[in-house]
Amino acid sequence: MKVLVAVKRTIDANVKVRVKADGTGVETANVKMAMNPFCEIAIEEAVRLREANIASEVIAVSAGPQAVQETLRSALAIGADRAIHVVTDVALQPLAIAKLLRAIAAKEQPKLIILGKQAIDDDNNQTGQMLAALLDWPQATFASKLKIEGDDAEVTREVDGGLETIAIKLPAIVTTDLRLNEPRYASLPNIMKAKKKTIDTLKPEDLGVDVTPRLNVLKVEEPARRKGGVKVADVAELVSKLRSEAKVIG
Ligand code: AMP
Repeated sequence: MKVLVAVKRTIDANVKVRVKADGTGVETANVKMAMNPFCEIAIEEAVRLREANIASEVIAVSAGPQAVQETLRSALAIGADRAIHVVTDVALQPLAIAKLLRAIAAKEQPKLIILGKQAIDDDNNQTGQMLAALLDWPQATFASKLKIEGDDAEVTREVDGGLETIAIKLPAIVTTDLRLNEPRYASLPNIMKAKKKTIDTLKPEDLGVDVTPRLNVLKVEEPARRKGGVKVADVAELVSKLRSEAKVIG
């Protein structure tokens, strides 16, 4: 079975995100970018399925400007077999990405599509769910364990109260949570091999998808700054401050 994995290029998880001075979004110019961590987990899981002879081919897909090819090369270095780049400079929203992925699924006929549960830049947590709805496929979101046997998948999901295990039929959508696996580091030979793997390019028009944004972002703000702490001289002063200022004791 073919496995399709959607990967997004985002701001590197170790970079402190800064809001643009005009409040229209976050600063991405001259900022270190990397593969969204949940997408790395998605690729790792797909590659493990191929190594276990459950998947026959792993195809990484990313939509965005030319630079997303770097992210696709990283996916190929982890072990994806080939990649598809949907080239566009439009700022993509989850519905547009879900429609692009639906069109690619129609061409490639994968049995499983793995996505990250969310992209750490805009935290939408929507694309996988929208794609499942568009394809009318079962979905298992926030996966922390995935077991596949034939056309059956058993997925353990991280939910508020603990873990939930569900059984779904393939073809299906799975979105990854943090504990699903620990992605490998791409080895140098695999980075070199990845350079020779194919990245096909397509435009949204080739897939018949209109990616025009439908939502307007009105404003992006940084969280309120925390006030600095105060040193107290002794316990008595601490208790008095807890009473008068923090009002945590009566
Ligand atoms: P989101 O719904 O934006 O939080 O993103 C959830 C997941 O959708 C990501 O982890 C990716 O697997 C996928 N995704 C989002 N944006 C893109 C993109 N531009 N290209 C490919 N996949 C994407």
